[in-house]
Amino acid sequence: MYDILIIGAGPAGIALAAEARAVGHEPSSVLILEKGTAHNWAIRQFYPAHKKTTANYKGHVAQCEGLLCITDMSKDETIRFFDEVIASYDIDILYGIEAYGIEQKEGQEGRYFHVETSKGIFDAHVLTIAIGVLGRPNKPKEYRLPPSLKDRLMFDITTRRIENEDVLIVGGGDTASEYVQHLFQQTNRVALSYRQQEFTRLNGANLATLMAMEGRGEVLILRGSNIIEVQDDGGRPRSIFKEEQYRARTFDSIVYALGGTTPVNFLRTLGIAFEGGMPKIDKTGETNVPGLFLIGDLTVSKTGGSIITAFNSAARAIKRIDKLMRAEQLSH
Ligand SMILES: Cc1cc2nc3c(=O)[nH]c(=O)nc-3n(C[C@H](O)[C@H](O)[C@H](O)COP(=O)(O)OP(=O)(O)OC[C@H]3O[C@@H](n4cnc5c(N)ncnc54)[C@H](O)[C@@H]3O)c2cc1C
Repeated sequence: MYDILIIGAGPAGIALAAEARAVGHEPSSVLILEKGTAHNWAIRQFYPAHKKTTANYKGHVAQCEGLLCITDMSKDETIRFFDEVIASYDIDILYGIEAYGIEQKEGQEGRYFHVETSKGIFDAHVLTIAIGVLGRPNKPKEYRLPPSLKDRLMFDITTRRIENEDVLIVGGGDTASEYVQHLFQQTNRVALSYRQQEFTRLNGANLATLMAMEGRGEVLILRGSNIIEVQDDGGRPRSIFKEEQYRARTFDSIVYALGGTTPVNFLRTLGIAFEGGMPKIDKTGETNVPGLFLIGDLTVSKTGGSIITAFNSAARAIKRIDKLMRAEQLSH
């Protein structure tokens, strides 16, 4: 059980871990889970190579309230700045882990968060979500998705709990493979449509697991398959394939794993209240779910904030989180 679990190793998540370490939380009690293979995955992906990182981005005031602060610097210097923060505050980050679902549970030590991820379960007393707003799901470009099937065509597996359904997953990367594994465990009958014949983008573990599942008949893999149309078949999606060997088939749900994320859906499944399209939080970032915090771009506006506003939200959150943790330690 971690004291503080943080989802997302961007400026906000890293700043919160640094703040937590600075007020005395042990390295082993604070953990960041990051879905990318390196910290600041969003910055690495979305900042152009020769971009200058400006401290007062989009007019956000460059006034730092906490431990971390930046001045104008290059993209490389920005990444190095975070390398140094992670090393000097001894921050523990696990990479390549995407959080799927979160539940609150009651245990001997009181209430805690039970986080389901692509690499197993993580439990924590305090949970902070720092996943930014930069990811957007990629949608198929070749055909139109019928609006009537909105709830049956998904871009992640957190929008709705999928159980005991016929599900088609579309994609051929690690996310698609991990969705296959997760949805099979959730008692679904799973098919995977991939436009290529060979899975060249999968990491070794995901490739081995997928092939073993296919061998055991746990997933039907439609290799070299291209969907050209999705029809509404009495409220369920019917996929029509270009290739003659794949007959049209109706599923309960289709999940597209074509890259990108949908942060808002992720939050709705946690039971976080929304107001005017934004999650409702107090000034420390705590939501209506006690012990569950949101920091960084998620808390600014739909268009996001800046690196310094992310740092400042972490500085405000740690004051409340530290109080919560100390009260909890006193009670045991
Ligand atoms: C093109 C561009 C240029 C910008 N230029 C500047 C600038 O010059 N100066 C400035 O101050 N700001 C700039 N910004 C804004 C700044 O980058 C953001 O405000 C800042 O990165 C927000 O930090 P964050 O930690 O909230 O989110 P992010 O930086 O988005 O980090 C979120 C992290 O969470 C991870 N994640 C997401 N979902 C999950 C999940 N389900 N499970 C696990 N991990 C997950 C992501 O991979 C990522 O590493 C720019 C933004 C863009 C798009």
